[in-house]
Amino acid sequence: MTVLREGSTGAGVELLQTGLIRAGFLNGGPDGIFGSNTLAALKAFQKDNGTAPDGIAGRLTWNALMPWLRGFINYSVKSGDTFASIAVRFGITLREILAANPGITPEELAVSQRITVPLPFDVVPTDISWTSELLNITVEGLVKRYPFIRRRSIGQSVMGKPLELLIIGKGTKKVCYNAGHHANEWITTPVLMKFTEQYAKAYVNGGIIDYESAKRLYENYLLYVVPMVDPDGVDLVNSAIPEDSYYYRQAVRYSGSYPDIPFPSGWKANINGVDLNLNYPAGWKLAREIKYGLGYTSPGPRDFVGAAPLTQPESYAMYRLTVSNDFLLTLSYHTQGEIIYWKYRDYLPEKSLKIGEKMSLVSGYPLVETPKESGNAGYKDWFIKTYDRPGYTIEVGKGKNPLPIEQFEKIYKDNTGILITGMTGV
Ligand SMILES: [Zn+2]
Repeated sequence: MTVLREGSTGAGVELLQTGLIRAGFLNGGPDGIFGSNTLAALKAFQKDNGTAPDGIAGRLTWNALMPWLRGFINYSVKSGDTFASIAVRFGITLREILAANPGITPEELAVSQRITVPLPFDVVPTDISWTSELLNITVEGLVKRYPFIRRRSIGQSVMGKPLELLIIGKGTKKVCYNAGHHANEWITTPVLMKFTEQYAKAYVNGGIIDYESAKRLYENYLLYVVPMVDPDGVDLVNSAIPEDSYYYRQAVRYSGSYPDIPFPSGWKANINGVDLNLNYPAGWKLAREIKYGLGYTSPGPRDFVGAAPLTQPESYAMYRLTVSNDFLLTLSYHTQGEIIYWKYRDYLPEKSLKIGEKMSLVSGYPLVETPKESGNAGYKDWFIKTYDRPGYTIEVGKGKNPLPIEQFEKIYKDNTGILITGMTGV
């Protein structure tokens, strides 16, 4: 974790502020600016947690804050404790504490036994910038609170970050949702993460998610979620890659060939400057011809197709995941336009129109045919071409990328129905 002090700014500060707010030391929302309020809050937190109140967020402070970011503590059972009394004391449900401790018999709690106690707030933040570090923290929190969520890695990014996969459910009908193929469309990551959390929480508490029984979903479907396909690119856009590092300097250099695209906010590609959603073997040569014609002939912030299909570890990992699983449907989350792309050329997979129409109905997003200049070499294109099954690109939000996080609530509300239909429609 980065060392932060007064005057620091950015995604790291937003994360620090999130921890301080959840711990009850800071009022208001996270703004990413480490000013006097954050300083006072941090010193108070440090004092309360037995670390030196120097107002600098270093390793010990981050460690002390971690329960507030991951959303659970390791609790040592005391005499007289029961799961019910602990749940009441921490403001959570009995079902939540039982779910977090699957191997433990409640009647046999022993003094000093270590258990996991979820804290009474949602883990997934929806009001701050996302980075690979935040993804890692929230994934750790979710799998600890909801151990029935299986965590896997489908590979590594160019810079060696894990490409996280979360699996939930025990049904036979497998579907796969991905987000963050494009770096400056990172707002799609919290959409899938929030959905995963809401789903798991509803399942534990015997509840519903968007009018659908979570238990019914869990028993009938097997949901694969890849929440951030391009972690290096997301980190670049949100200033989480040090400016003196090799990859940052390379990105600056690549950007120099495309002076009209703002840096880093206009960056869609992976850290090698390859647009991952133009790196799949479905009309790739045509995509190359079109994009070269538009001037995207070298690594850069967007629209460069790469030297060949699947040359990038991130697109290759998605390819591998998909060929080794029998997905009945895929959703790929992108931003811009509040529309649903559902076609590849003249393929018409069975049910794809019907499911698309249902998604359109529940979201208000129209079904749209992909424009010719972007109708090739995407993940959805490759999935439809290879399997002749329903694959969709969902374009959330409106405005200029990266969309401001303030749009999150509307985006999430619009998309819950789509995320449910992606399962129930197959
Ligand atoms: Zn995109």
